[in-house]
Amino acid sequence: MTSSPLPHRIGYGEDAHRLAEGRSLVLGGVAIPHAGRGAVAHSDGDAVLHAVADALLSGLALGDIGQYYPDTAPENAGLDSRVILMRCLELVRKRGYAPVNLALVVTLDRPKLGPLRADIARSLAELLGLRETEVGVSFKTSEGLAPDHVQVRVTVLLARMGA
Ligand SMILES: [Zn+2]
Repeated sequence: MTSSPLPHRIGYGEDAHRLAEGRSLVLGGVAIPHAGRGAVAHSDGDAVLHAVADALLSGLALGDIGQYYPDTAPENAGLDSRVILMRCLELVRKRGYAPVNLALVVTLDRPKLGPLRADIARSLAELLGLRETEVGVSFKTSEGLAPDHVQVRVTVLLARMGA
């Protein structure tokens, strides 16, 4: 069955990393000051960028970042997650779509991220070619259920370009 491409498609992504001392915490391309702990990961462990990249891929049924960037590959060690995100964005654009807005929930018990909301929104907007008002950033705590983890959930709306 053939059908014309949908004008809009929704993508959803999630990511989580364990936190440990002696590592730096980066979320959405923003270094979090005084975090004291950072993500245990093969790459730089930016859970926001990983979840956004997965959301972009899922919107067009392109799989997930684990297929493109396996955490067993030595060349991906310490990889800047912005590289991962830009590659996924390129895959979306090649298929004629672009992100038009993004909704993000970060669950982290500490530090409190509220003061960094605008920084994270601005960073994501710049990376994705959006305005800050098109990037919603919410913060939650796990209420002590997962004090040693950062978890991120993202929805993204993709629109067909020139449609
Ligand atoms: Zn990740």
